[in-house]
Parts: sequence; C-alpha cells; structure tokens
Amino acid sequence: MRLTPTRSVKDEKVKNVNLSTAMLSPSSAHGGLYAPKKLPKIARAKWQELSSLSYEKLALHIISLFKFDVPEAFFKKALKRYASFDDPKHPVIFKKIDKNLYVNELYHGPTRAFKDMALQPFGSLLSQLAKERGERYLIMCATSGDTGPATLQTFANDENIKVVCLYPDGGTSEVQKLQMQTMQGENLKVFGIKGDFDDAQRALKTLLANDKFKSELKKKRLKLSAANSVNFGRILFQIIYHAYAYANLLKQKALKANESFDIIVPSGNFGNALGAYYAKKMGAKIGKIKIASNTNNILTQFFTTGVYDLRDKKLVKTISPAMDILISSNVERLLFDKFGSERTNELMQSLAKNKFYKLSKQELEALKEDFEASWCDDKECEAYIAKLAKNGYAIDPHTATCFKMVDTSRINVITSTAHWVKFTPSMIKACQIKDTKDEKDALAKTAKILNDSVPSSINSLFSAKILHKNIIKEDEIEKCVLEWIER
Ligand SMILES: *Cc1c(COP(=O)(O)O)cnc(C)c1O
Repeated sequence: MRLTPTRSVKDEKVKNVNLSTAMLSPSSAHGGLYAPKKLPKIARAKWQELSSLSYEKLALHIISLFKFDVPEAFFKKALKRYASFDDPKHPVIFKKIDKNLYVNELYHGPTRAFKDMALQPFGSLLSQLAKERGERYLIMCATSGDTGPATLQTFANDENIKVVCLYPDGGTSEVQKLQMQTMQGENLKVFGIKGDFDDAQRALKTLLANDKFKSELKKKRLKLSAANSVNFGRILFQIIYHAYAYANLLKQKALKANESFDIIVPSGNFGNALGAYYAKKMGAKIGKIKIASNTNNILTQFFTTGVYDLRDKKLVKTISPAMDILISSNVERLLFDKFGSERTNELMQSLAKNKFYKLSKQELEALKEDFEASWCDDKECEAYIAKLAKNGYAIDPHTATCFKMVDTSRINVITSTAHWVKFTPSMIKACQIKDTKDEKDALAKTAKILNDSVPSSINSLFSAKILHKNIIKEDEIEKCVLEWIER
C-alpha cells in the first residue's frame, strides 16, 4: 500500500508514496500529511483468532495487512523494542477496574508515557531505513512534555540519526524536564523555548519548510525529518493497542455477539484518537471514540459544533500539559478520510488564513457517527484522581479527563496515557498530601498513599547530571541548531 497526501487541488496529479518515504520525509504537497486512502479490513471471525495472539504477533499481523514496502524483518526487529518495557510480553496492560469499565494502560515503557508505544518501534524502524539507504537524518521534534523524552530515548546513540528536541520552557512537569535535560547521547540536543507548545510546534514547522536551513544541512550530508505524530510511521503503531483492547475483550468474552464498545481518549494532537478511528475502520467493534480534553477544549467545540476556531482562543496551562494544544495536527487526517483531499486542503487553508473553518451540517453529522467529545477542568480532574486513589487505582491528570465520559451502561475502555510519577505536584494537590520537602519526597509520599512504587529510572533523575541547559527564543532556533551540528 502507498500513502496519499491529505491535501490537493482540483485536476492536480496526486503523488502517492511508500511508507519508507512518508517516514523519512513526512510533509506532503501543500503543507499536508500522508495518510492511507483505504484501510485493510479484518473480518469478524479473524478477530476471534487474533485475540489469542501476543501483542507482538498481533502487531505484526496488523502491519502485514498494509502491504507496505518495508521488509517484515525490519518490523520484527522494531517490535523487539518492547522488550525494554516493564513486562516484555505485555507492553500494554489491559485491566478491568469496574463493571463495564476497562483501562488500557499504555505507559509501561521507558519514559512512562504512551509515546513510547509508538516511538520505540518507530525509532528502530526509521534508523533501519536510514541505514539501508546510507543516509543520515536530523530529527526535529517539538514536545509538550512526553514526546521529547520518548524521542530522545528511542534514538540515543544512534549513528545515523541526530535529534533536536524543543520544549516550551515552563510548560512541562519537573520530571519531564529532567528526563530531557539529563538524557545522555552525543547525537542528542535539547532546547527550551520561550513560549508555549503551539509556539514550539509552529517554529518547528517553519524551520522544516526553510530551504536555507535545509541546504545548510545538506552540506553536512544531513536530511531533515520529524518524529511528531505528523509522521505516519508513528500512527501505524498507535492503531495496534486499540485493536489489542478489542482482542482482549473478545478473549475475555466480555462482548456479546455484535456488541460494540466505546474508547475514551485523552487528546491533544489527536494521534492517539486517530489510531482508534483507524482500528475501527479495520473492523474492531468500536462504537464511539470519545475525545477527552482539558480546559483547552477546542476539540470539544469542534466535535460538537463543527467549527474549528482559533480566533478567540488562548492556550491555558493546565495540570495535563501534554494536552495543552490548540492546533491539533492529526485532525487533518480525519478530515481527509471523511471528506477527501480537496476539501481538506480548503479547510486547512481557511485555518491558516482565517484562523477558523466550519464544516457543513452533513459533514458534522458524519463525524458524530464515530466521535463524541467533552472536557474537564483541573478541579474536576483532581476530584477524579482523589476518588480513584481512594479506590486503590492511580491515574495521572491526563487520564483523569476521561472519567466524565464514562457510561457504564456499555463497555468503555479508557486509554491511559501516562504514569502518575510524571505529574507529582498535581497528584499531591489532588490527594491533599501535605508537608513535602521537594519533588523527590513528594513522589515517595504519593507512592505511599497510592500503594504504588516509584520506578528507579524516575528516582535517579534527581541526582543525574543536567546536560542540556539552553533556553532560547523562537528566532534563535535555526542558528542554535546549526551551531550544534557544526561542533
Ligand atoms: C501526547 C499525550 C496526550 C495526547 O495525545 P495525542 O495523540 O497528541 O492526542 C495525552 N496524554 C499524554 C500523557 C500524552 O503524553
């Protein structure tokens, strides 16, 4: 299968590409992305058969259906990365926590956020492709806190890849910041940016389109790529854990014949929710995909009114920083799937020019067939954290945004995206833990209340050497990146 640009104009010949090209050069025509035109479908009986497979085998099967140009051996090697997770056989932990309520825990990887689920195999795959072509790449990533550590981790010490990671200074948690600032590897560089995540993402997009910058890199025999979820190579691995949730429900005989279930996804850039949508299109019996947001509730507005409106919005800092996003890049792939590339181009041009777009009534109805959306403010999230902690289950502030949409008259699967250890200040506030000396002490006290333990990789962050200290302005990025490469 080849991937198609999400944007086009009338009568233009569309240039489809292989997965390897889409991974190595993720931007397509007119500033768009790459997406599958059609998803392979798995029949009902086959799902039953797949439900007995291990995570890795299920992943390989699903990937094989796409018939991509990348050899199976590459994928096999990439999926071996899950061996570094808490439980190598079960990189994802699927749990029942209440009647009709399940949690798909996706945060058991090395950096304790669900980003590892995709970035670990993605990093291996990209590196293998680069090696095969004899090419060297500079991977630029903008992060709201979790993509950064996961991207640095997956590429650390890779010969063919250099990584520059941009995070909004003051926009991440302490643990997230330390994870980036202490990451070792000659091939890694981290910059804090004065501004918020949208500023960092915009700066990155501008730089990726800058010809002068690219030609400077060319002199150094470096090509540019991106590891944000604009890269389809990441989305591919994000389909699998939603399919795995379905497979688990089948295995546990939790679903009656033809019964569907809903998935609730704490959303920011919409990569995770898009994975659920693709899994549904592949035949997983998903009813609604429920999009959970924090106070930056632009997606709630979009899925309930059909208007994507940046005009009156300002990014608000919340206790779920990975969801503090207004420009949700992967919505574009949904628009493409539902309405085609010409219409997507029209809508995205309107967003760039007028800071908003509006779907027609029929278009909105088409989205509502698959999606619902709602949001929680910080107070509500803290209340959910405290309530669940009392019941002996620890959730982080991102996962907390999901609970408002739980409807236990049906089977609901909550997609849990981060380990609570990454967000201790919010946890101690929610659980009303007092008299903590510092973050490390707060971690220990929270763990005690939650009857949980702090992973050693997190505790050791507090004594690790800070290797990356630079805080820079948006307009200094180009210069600073080139200086680092020159060195
Ligand atoms: C990235 C992230 C999200 C948002 O996921 P998207 O795929 O960008 O919608 C939610 N929660 C956590 C903890 C994250 O790291």
